[in-house]
Amino acid sequence: MLAPVSYQGEGFIQLGDFPRLLAESASVSPGDGFDCQIVSLHRDDRPFMEVQIRGRMAIACQRCLDPMALELEIQRTYVFLRTEVEADQFPMDKDEEEAMVASTHFNLLEAIEDEILLALPHAPKHPVGQCQLRQVGADLEKPNPFKVLKNLKK
Ligand SMILES: [Zn+2]
Repeated sequence: MLAPVSYQGEGFIQLGDFPRLLAESASVSPGDGFDCQIVSLHRDDRPFMEVQIRGRMAIACQRCLDPMALELEIQRTYVFLRTEVEADQFPMDKDEEEAMVASTHFNLLEAIEDEILLALPHAPKHPVGQCQLRQVGADLEKPNPFKVLKNLKK
């Protein structure tokens, strides 16, 4: 990671290649996944890696529990430093920069998955009026076991 080489790569990673994201998703459609652009470069003798992630996945709406498509766009710059102390002391000018301790164990796929997990909304909901709440009205009086379940989850 600390070797002075520059690398540039781009590729589409399917949702299925991210096991933790797959666990969060409500449904998987073909085309769900993320386009990732990676540029690794050196600035002031330090290795940097710029990662751009753009894509979509579906997670469950917290109101109606139906899948809800999410479009995400994330930008992150990793700065690789030699030691923990160096990483702690590194001045972070920008929010999207993250100091990492350079190691051969850095797993890019997992780092990308971490970023996407962090970017997921905490309690996603369809815009008001667009929830797939079916049969609202007539049988509102009857206790619906599924609704009871839903309320328990709140
Ligand atoms: Zn909804």
